[in-house]
Amino acid sequence: MRAEKEEEGDYASKGLRVVTIDGPSGAGKSTIAKTLAKRLGWNHLDTGSMYRAVTLALLREKVDLADPESVQAVLDTLDLRLEGGGKVFLGKEEVSQLLRDPDVENLVSAVSALPAVRARMKELQRREALRGPLVAEGRDMGSVVFPDAQYKFFLDASPAERARRRHQDFEAQGLHVPRDKVLAELERRDRLDSTRKDAPLVRTKDMESVDSTHLGIQEIVDRMVARVRAGLPSGEGPQGSSAGGKP
Ligand code: C5P
Repeated sequence: MRAEKEEEGDYASKGLRVVTIDGPSGAGKSTIAKTLAKRLGWNHLDTGSMYRAVTLALLREKVDLADPESVQAVLDTLDLRLEGGGKVFLGKEEVSQLLRDPDVENLVSAVSALPAVRARMKELQRREALRGPLVAEGRDMGSVVFPDAQYKFFLDASPAERARRRHQDFEAQGLHVPRDKVLAELERRDRLDSTRKDAPLVRTKDMESVDSTHLGIQEIVDRMVARVRAGLPSGEGPQGSSAGGKP
Protein backbone atom coordinates (compact mmCIF):
# COMPACT_ATOMS: atom_id res chain seq x y z
CA MET A 1 0.00 0.00 0.00
CA ARG A 2 2.72 2.37 1.07
CA ALA A 3 4.83 1.46 -1.94
CA GLU A 4 1.86 2.24 -4.18
CA LYS A 5 1.42 5.67 -2.51
CA GLU A 6 5.07 6.49 -2.96
CA GLU A 7 4.96 5.39 -6.57
CA GLU A 8 1.93 7.67 -7.18
CA GLY A 9 3.62 10.61 -5.45
CA ASP A 10 6.83 10.04 -7.33
CA TYR A 11 4.99 9.81 -10.59
CA ALA A 12 2.95 12.96 -9.94
CA SER A 13 6.07 14.98 -9.15
CA LYS A 14 7.57 14.33 -12.55
CA GLY A 15 5.36 17.00 -14.15
CA LEU A 16 5.00 15.06 -17.38
CA ARG A 17 3.21 16.65 -20.29
CA VAL A 18 0.04 14.69 -20.93
CA VAL A 19 -3.39 15.35 -22.40
CA THR A 20 -6.06 12.73 -21.72
CA ILE A 21 -9.13 11.84 -23.74
CA ASP A 22 -11.56 9.40 -22.13
CA GLY A 23 -14.94 8.20 -23.30
CA PRO A 24 -17.00 5.24 -24.50
CA SER A 25 -16.33 3.35 -27.71
CA GLY A 26 -17.37 4.99 -30.94
CA ALA A 27 -17.15 8.50 -29.49
CA GLY A 28 -14.30 9.28 -31.90
CA LYS A 29 -11.42 9.09 -29.42
CA SER A 30 -8.90 7.40 -31.68
CA THR A 31 -9.32 9.68 -34.69
CA ILE A 32 -9.39 12.77 -32.52
CA ALA A 33 -6.48 11.74 -30.28
CA LYS A 34 -4.36 10.85 -33.31
CA THR A 35 -5.13 14.15 -35.03
CA LEU A 36 -4.57 16.16 -31.86
CA ALA A 37 -1.22 14.45 -31.25
CA LYS A 38 -0.13 15.22 -34.80
CA ARG A 39 -1.12 18.88 -34.47
CA LEU A 40 0.76 19.25 -31.18
CA GLY A 41 3.72 17.19 -32.35
CA TRP A 42 3.20 14.86 -29.37
CA ASN A 43 3.06 11.06 -29.16
CA HIS A 44 -0.27 9.26 -29.31
CA LEU A 45 -1.19 6.40 -26.97
CA ASP A 46 -4.23 4.26 -27.80
CA THR A 47 -4.74 2.30 -24.57
CA GLY A 48 -7.76 0.43 -25.97
CA SER A 49 -5.40 -1.35 -28.34
CA MET A 50 -3.22 -2.34 -25.37
CA TYR A 51 -6.18 -4.00 -23.64
CA ARG A 52 -7.11 -5.64 -26.94
CA ALA A 53 -3.57 -6.99 -27.34
CA VAL A 54 -3.60 -8.51 -23.83
CA THR A 55 -6.98 -10.05 -24.64
CA LEU A 56 -5.52 -11.59 -27.79
CA ALA A 57 -2.56 -12.98 -25.82
CA LEU A 58 -4.92 -14.53 -23.24
CA LEU A 59 -7.15 -15.98 -25.97
CA ARG A 60 -4.16 -17.55 -27.69
CA GLU A 61 -3.04 -19.16 -24.46
CA LYS A 62 -6.64 -20.28 -23.82
CA VAL A 63 -6.42 -18.83 -20.33
CA ASP A 64 -9.34 -19.16 -17.94
CA LEU A 65 -9.95 -15.59 -16.77
CA ALA A 66 -11.19 -16.92 -13.43
CA ASP A 67 -7.74 -18.38 -12.76
CA PRO A 68 -5.56 -15.51 -11.48
CA GLU A 69 -2.33 -17.52 -11.65
CA SER A 70 -2.72 -18.33 -15.34
CA VAL A 71 -3.60 -14.70 -16.10
CA GLN A 72 -0.56 -13.53 -14.14
CA ALA A 73 1.70 -15.97 -16.00
CA VAL A 74 0.69 -14.39 -19.32
CA LEU A 75 1.13 -10.88 -17.90
CA ASP A 76 4.60 -11.75 -16.57
CA THR A 77 5.84 -12.80 -20.00
CA LEU A 78 3.84 -10.28 -22.01
CA ASP A 79 6.01 -8.54 -24.57
CA LEU A 80 3.66 -5.79 -25.70
CA ARG A 81 5.16 -3.04 -27.84
CA LEU A 82 3.62 -0.02 -29.48
CA GLU A 83 5.15 1.67 -32.46
CA GLY A 84 4.33 4.84 -34.36
CA GLY A 85 1.36 4.75 -36.71
CA GLY A 86 -0.68 2.73 -34.20
CA LYS A 87 1.25 -0.49 -34.76
CA VAL A 88 0.95 -3.04 -31.94
CA PHE A 89 3.34 -5.96 -31.49
CA LEU A 90 3.22 -9.07 -29.35
CA GLY A 91 6.85 -10.12 -29.36
CA LYS A 92 8.04 -9.84 -32.95
CA GLU A 93 4.57 -10.27 -34.44
CA GLU A 94 2.54 -7.28 -35.52
CA VAL A 95 -1.01 -7.93 -34.33
CA SER A 96 -2.64 -4.57 -35.15
CA GLN A 97 -5.01 -6.11 -37.69
CA LEU A 98 -6.20 -8.80 -35.28
CA LEU A 99 -7.25 -6.46 -32.50
CA ARG A 100 -10.69 -5.73 -33.98
CA ASP A 101 -11.62 -9.40 -34.36
CA PRO A 102 -15.04 -10.22 -32.88
CA ASP A 103 -13.41 -12.74 -30.47
CA VAL A 104 -11.22 -9.99 -29.04
CA GLU A 105 -14.07 -7.45 -29.09
CA ASN A 106 -16.33 -9.81 -27.11
CA LEU A 107 -13.80 -10.54 -24.39
CA VAL A 108 -11.92 -7.29 -23.97
CA SER A 109 -14.23 -5.75 -21.35
CA ALA A 110 -13.98 -8.87 -19.16
CA VAL A 111 -10.18 -8.83 -19.47
CA SER A 112 -9.91 -5.13 -18.74
CA ALA A 113 -11.95 -5.58 -15.55
CA LEU A 114 -9.16 -7.73 -14.04
CA PRO A 115 -7.12 -5.70 -11.52
CA ALA A 116 -3.88 -7.54 -12.40
CA VAL A 117 -4.30 -6.58 -16.06
CA ARG A 118 -5.05 -2.95 -15.19
CA ALA A 119 -2.04 -2.71 -12.90
CA ARG A 120 0.28 -3.97 -15.64
CA MET A 121 -1.25 -1.66 -18.25
CA LYS A 122 -0.96 1.37 -15.97
CA GLU A 123 2.72 0.66 -15.53
CA LEU A 124 3.29 0.42 -19.30
CA GLN A 125 1.17 3.50 -20.01
CA ARG A 126 3.06 5.65 -17.53
CA ARG A 127 6.30 4.47 -19.05
CA GLU A 128 5.09 5.80 -22.40
CA ALA A 129 4.67 9.23 -20.85
CA LEU A 130 8.38 9.22 -19.91
CA ARG A 131 9.31 9.04 -23.59
CA GLY A 132 7.82 12.44 -24.43
CA PRO A 133 4.65 14.55 -24.39
CA LEU A 134 1.61 12.38 -24.82
CA VAL A 135 -2.01 12.40 -25.93
CA ALA A 136 -3.43 9.36 -24.12
CA GLU A 137 -6.87 8.00 -24.93
CA GLY A 138 -8.91 5.38 -23.10
CA ARG A 139 -11.38 4.94 -20.26
CA ASP A 140 -9.31 5.83 -17.17
CA MET A 141 -6.58 8.09 -18.51
CA GLY A 142 -7.62 11.27 -16.69
CA SER A 143 -9.16 9.57 -13.68
CA VAL A 144 -6.51 6.98 -12.75
CA VAL A 145 -3.44 6.70 -14.95
CA PHE A 146 -2.61 10.40 -15.46
CA PRO A 147 -4.51 12.24 -12.70
CA ASP A 148 -2.13 15.21 -13.04
CA ALA A 149 -2.52 15.64 -16.80
CA GLN A 150 -2.45 19.23 -18.01
CA TYR A 151 -5.68 18.85 -19.84
CA LYS A 152 -8.45 16.27 -19.60
CA PHE A 153 -11.26 15.76 -22.08
CA PHE A 154 -14.29 13.48 -21.92
CA LEU A 155 -15.53 12.67 -25.39
CA ASP A 156 -19.02 11.30 -25.92
CA ALA A 157 -21.70 10.97 -28.60
CA SER A 158 -25.22 9.54 -28.70
CA PRO A 159 -25.39 5.71 -28.68
CA ALA A 160 -27.08 5.71 -32.10
CA GLU A 161 -24.29 7.80 -33.63
CA ARG A 162 -21.59 5.69 -31.96
CA ALA A 163 -23.21 2.52 -33.30
CA ARG A 164 -23.41 4.07 -36.78
CA ARG A 165 -19.64 4.78 -36.67
CA ARG A 166 -18.75 1.30 -35.39
CA HIS A 167 -20.96 -0.23 -38.07
CA GLN A 168 -19.13 1.83 -40.69
CA ASP A 169 -15.75 0.64 -39.30
CA PHE A 170 -16.87 -2.99 -39.51
CA GLU A 171 -18.13 -2.55 -43.08
CA ALA A 172 -14.79 -1.01 -44.05
CA GLN A 173 -13.13 -4.20 -42.76
CA GLY A 174 -15.55 -6.34 -44.76
CA LEU A 175 -17.42 -7.44 -41.60
CA HIS A 176 -21.18 -7.37 -42.07
CA VAL A 177 -22.84 -7.07 -38.68
CA PRO A 178 -26.43 -5.76 -38.42
CA ARG A 179 -26.60 -2.24 -36.99
CA ASP A 180 -28.85 -3.25 -34.06
CA LYS A 181 -26.33 -5.94 -33.08
CA VAL A 182 -23.54 -3.38 -33.15
CA LEU A 183 -25.59 -1.09 -30.90
CA ALA A 184 -26.39 -3.92 -28.46
CA GLU A 185 -22.71 -4.93 -28.26
CA LEU A 186 -21.64 -1.33 -27.74
CA GLU A 187 -24.16 -0.86 -24.92
CA ARG A 188 -23.03 -4.13 -23.33
CA ARG A 189 -19.42 -2.94 -23.36
CA ASP A 190 -20.39 0.51 -22.03
CA ARG A 191 -22.22 -1.15 -19.16
CA LEU A 192 -19.29 -3.41 -18.27
CA ASP A 193 -16.72 -0.62 -18.60
CA SER A 194 -18.75 1.80 -16.48
CA THR A 195 -19.71 -0.57 -13.69
CA ARG A 196 -16.46 -2.48 -13.04
CA LYS A 197 -14.86 -1.97 -9.63
CA ASP A 198 -11.36 -1.08 -10.78
CA ALA A 199 -11.00 2.14 -12.78
CA PRO A 200 -14.47 2.32 -14.34
CA LEU A 201 -15.19 4.74 -17.16
CA VAL A 202 -16.12 7.98 -15.36
CA ARG A 203 -16.20 11.65 -16.15
CA THR A 204 -14.48 13.48 -13.32
CA LYS A 205 -15.17 17.13 -12.50
CA ASP A 206 -11.90 18.29 -13.98
CA MET A 207 -12.63 16.87 -17.45
CA GLU A 208 -14.01 19.06 -20.20
CA SER A 209 -16.96 17.36 -21.91
CA VAL A 210 -17.08 17.30 -25.67
CA ASP A 211 -20.11 15.85 -27.48
CA SER A 212 -19.05 14.70 -30.92
CA THR A 213 -22.55 13.73 -32.13
CA HIS A 214 -22.91 16.79 -34.35
CA LEU A 215 -19.37 18.19 -34.39
CA GLY A 216 -16.75 17.56 -37.06
CA ILE A 217 -13.32 16.18 -36.17
CA GLN A 218 -11.55 19.34 -37.25
CA GLU A 219 -13.75 21.55 -35.14
CA ILE A 220 -13.18 19.41 -32.05
CA VAL A 221 -9.42 19.18 -32.58
CA ASP A 222 -9.13 22.95 -33.17
CA ARG A 223 -10.86 23.54 -29.87
CA MET A 224 -8.62 21.05 -28.06
CA VAL A 225 -5.43 22.47 -29.55
CA ALA A 226 -6.44 25.92 -28.35
CA ARG A 227 -7.16 24.69 -24.83
CA VAL A 228 -3.92 22.75 -24.55
CA ARG A 229 -1.72 25.48 -25.97
CA ALA A 230 -3.32 28.09 -23.75
CA GLY A 231 -2.21 26.05 -20.74
CA LEU A 232 1.40 25.57 -21.83
CA PRO A 233 4.23 27.67 -20.38
CA SER A 234 4.78 30.97 -22.23
CA GLY A 235 6.68 30.58 -25.46
CA GLU A 236 4.75 27.42 -26.24
CA GLY A 237 1.30 29.00 -26.40
CA PRO A 238 -0.78 29.63 -29.50
CA GLN A 239 0.83 31.77 -32.15
CA GLY A 240 -1.78 34.24 -33.31
CA SER A 241 -4.30 31.72 -32.04
CA SER A 242 -7.80 31.88 -33.33
CA ALA A 243 -8.84 29.94 -30.29
CA GLY A 244 -11.91 31.18 -28.55
CA GLY A 245 -12.92 30.76 -24.95
CA LYS A 246 -15.25 28.05 -23.72
CA PRO A 247 -18.06 27.49 -26.22
O1 C5P B 1 -11.19 2.00 -27.07
P1 C5P B 1 -11.40 0.56 -27.42
O2 C5P B 1 -12.80 0.25 -27.89
O3 C5P B 1 -10.37 0.01 -28.34
O4 C5P B 1 -11.20 -0.22 -26.03
C1 C5P B 1 -11.41 -1.60 -25.94
C2 C5P B 1 -11.75 -1.97 -24.50
O5 C5P B 1 -10.58 -1.82 -23.70
C3 C5P B 1 -12.80 -1.13 -23.81
O6 C5P B 1 -14.13 -1.58 -24.06
C4 C5P B 1 -12.43 -1.29 -22.34
O7 C5P B 1 -12.98 -2.49 -21.84
C5 C5P B 1 -10.92 -1.45 -22.39
N1 C5P B 1 -10.21 -0.23 -22.01
C6 C5P B 1 -10.07 0.04 -20.66
N2 C5P B 1 -9.33 1.10 -20.26
C7 C5P B 1 -8.75 1.92 -21.16
C8 C5P B 1 -8.89 1.67 -22.54
C9 C5P B 1 -9.65 0.59 -22.93
O8 C5P B 1 -10.61 -0.69 -19.82
N3 C5P B 1 -8.00 2.92 -20.73
